[in-house]
Amino acid sequence: MVFSRPPLTIPGMTVAPIYFDCHATTPCDPRVVEAMAPTFSEDFGNAASRQHVFGWRAESLVEAARRQVARLIECDPREVIFTSGATEADNLAVRGVAMAPTTKGRHIVTCVTEHKAVLDPCQQLESRGFRVTYLPVRGDGRVRVEDVERAVTPETALVSIMYANNEIGTVHPVPEIGRLLKKKRVLFHCDAVQALPHLPCQVDELGADLLSLSAHKMYGPKGVGALYVRRRQPRVRLEPVILGGGHERGLRSGTLNVPGVVGFGRACEIVASEREGAAKRLAVLRNRLLEKLRDELPEMIINGVAPEHMNEHRLPNNLNVTFPGVNAEHLLKALGGVAVASGSACSTAVADSSYVLRCLDKPEPKEFGGVRIGLGRFNTSEEVDRAAEEITTTVKRLRAAPPSTSTRCD
Ligand SMILES: *Cc1c(COP(=O)(O)O)cnc(C)c1O
Repeated sequence: MVFSRPPLTIPGMTVAPIYFDCHATTPCDPRVVEAMAPTFSEDFGNAASRQHVFGWRAESLVEAARRQVARLIECDPREVIFTSGATEADNLAVRGVAMAPTTKGRHIVTCVTEHKAVLDPCQQLESRGFRVTYLPVRGDGRVRVEDVERAVTPETALVSIMYANNEIGTVHPVPEIGRLLKKKRVLFHCDAVQALPHLPCQVDELGADLLSLSAHKMYGPKGVGALYVRRRQPRVRLEPVILGGGHERGLRSGTLNVPGVVGFGRACEIVASEREGAAKRLAVLRNRLLEKLRDELPEMIINGVAPEHMNEHRLPNNLNVTFPGVNAEHLLKALGGVAVASGSACSTAVADSSYVLRCLDKPEPKEFGGVRIGLGRFNTSEEVDRAAEEITTTVKRLRAAPPSTSTRCD
């Protein structure tokens, strides 16, 4: 009933295009859509309306969703603050800690390959007198725990390091960083958006005091996410970024997106019950794609964590590769039937090569750019085979006859 429209097709093509861009967004799981459906016209109340049953009903749906989110990350539901997504959650974490009256120092530690939703607020804080340390990464994209340790000073108000990177899928040693910062009594924010569908993310295991989540990266709807804010040992004090009405314990005013929150809760419940098996299945598909591409295109360069360490240090659904001699932007345009990405969808405002890839100190031919592949819950091995074939033939065709336009794309 939900997907009764004919599948999306491309003019001149008879088969549906393959979606391999799950780091940018994921399709809503039909079970999520089903959970959301009644909230649009039946259970449409404002969760903040205290005087009538419509409001009470909406509030109870929101609180049920809050418990579903809390169960996934193993925290108290009162520690979950709903937001419009992870961009807002990252902003609230970084700016909220920095601006809190109780914050002692004016130093922040983060990493060069963080998401812009962390880097841009950090940059703004620098212009307001904060000092920010941007930690470098190793050749495979991982941050070193020793570098975090060396960077922290008595002035450090916050360390913000993501769990897994959205371009190269690199998994940072977050539990180790969390343990270190606990010892040093420094607040730790972790953007766990990309890790959540694939890796266990219990806040105590990670040692996180603040954790960002986004529903649409885990088969939920767009426009909703959450920030976990630790309430005890230590109690994290935040200055709100959005004021007006005092919703969400005063930390995030504004009428709650009840349909989104309900869908997000259901998405968390599904991830909690299916994550382990799903991650194994995705690793098999990803490795199959990698093998097929390497067989046909042996000169292909793998950006980030090497294949022998992928099981530990790379998300199971991620691949990021460079095809020497073929500009990634040209390849993306030429690939009619496979949706992959170059760089990240989040920095579309800047037509620039990937800042994440530039941080990896590798002697690879940077001018060609990287192709980011993100597999997901609904992909099949038949799609992997079809995509491998199309990518292979397109790379070979472009190499034989490159487009006559300049290498810089618009
Ligand atoms: C997508 C993404 C965000 C932003 O999330 P939105 O909910 O789209 O605002 C933040 N961090 C990472 C790592 C992401 O992949």
